[in-house]
Amino acid sequence: MNTTTPPSTPQDPAVAQPAGTVPGTVTPGARPRVLSGMRPTGALHLGHYHGALKSWVQLQSTHDCFFFVADWHALTTHYEHREGLEQSVYDMVVDWLAAGVDPEKATLFIQSRMPEHAELFTLLAMSTPSSWLERMPSYKDAVAENRELATFGFLGYPLLQAADILIYKAAFVPVGEDQAPHVEVTREVARRFNHLYAPLLPEPQALLSDTARLPGLDGRKMSKTYGNAIAMRDAPEVVEQKIRQMPTDPQRVRRHDAGEPMRCPVWPLHQVYTDEATRQWAADGCRSAGIGCLDCKQPLIDAIQREQAPWRARAEELLADPKKVHWIVEVGTERARAVARKTLREVRSAIGLAY
Ligand code: SF4
Repeated sequence: MNTTTPPSTPQDPAVAQPAGTVPGTVTPGARPRVLSGMRPTGALHLGHYHGALKSWVQLQSTHDCFFFVADWHALTTHYEHREGLEQSVYDMVVDWLAAGVDPEKATLFIQSRMPEHAELFTLLAMSTPSSWLERMPSYKDAVAENRELATFGFLGYPLLQAADILIYKAAFVPVGEDQAPHVEVTREVARRFNHLYAPLLPEPQALLSDTARLPGLDGRKMSKTYGNAIAMRDAPEVVEQKIRQMPTDPQRVRRHDAGEPMRCPVWPLHQVYTDEATRQWAADGCRSAGIGCLDCKQPLIDAIQREQAPWRARAEELLADPKKVHWIVEVGTERARAVARKTLREVRSAIGLAY
């Protein structure tokens, strides 16, 4: 058996155009397939919306989208804290649907309901050098910080991700820059499989998000862990209170002090939520002390409340009918299973396990 890996194809893994290095990546006339997942963290916040969900909603009209709840991935780091997992799964799916993810256009499913992913993971693990996983920056950094993450599951997490992607022969994987190495390792795994057995698994391409990371209320990355998030379904008065309490330019102590937007954690929110004319008004007013910070924050409060109103209305309907949400996931899971099983049959046969 030849165990060498062929050289990389010259393609840039992070470009937004259909792949095609392996037959079957994109059938002419078919919409290219996109695969993306989220760990079940419960109710989502605006960072999740602007960092991922918004692009999911756009992609579902142009691509064959498979979106999944990555609950096994959640266990790779939180294997001891599994209480509330089910609630988190369905809260997250409600937010997907509330944001406009449409189960008629996209396939929504739950990873742990798909043992097919685990089988492909096992088969890929046989020929994946452990050094490929040990060198992942996400693994090295996390284990250096927390020895409890030195588990086989956490080491294997990028390979499980590779199985998640390859089992659907996805052409594109929307990711943030920090996840791009995981798509690269998926490409290496696919190349190795194709070289060893048969050219079955297309090399996916990373679809890098062009949305700037939405900062949290304190200017750091928005995260529930930091307590600096605005939830997608926060009530209007909660949004108002959170924004009004946001810190501002530390050098603008009194109303008549001139400020500098570039030093202010509120400013990046203006980049996302307000138009050019409003930003000009805010910047001029800040630098001349012509407006107060509460004046500056008001257009943000209005814009966020406007954005959230339809989400809250749709979520209320879904929360009143939990069976409907379960049914959407059921249908999506079975649709995904049909695709996954087909790939697995091909994979088993290529390896010589079709008996
Ligand atoms: S006016 Fe606006 S940009 Fe300037 S310090 Fe206040 S909140 Fe920040």
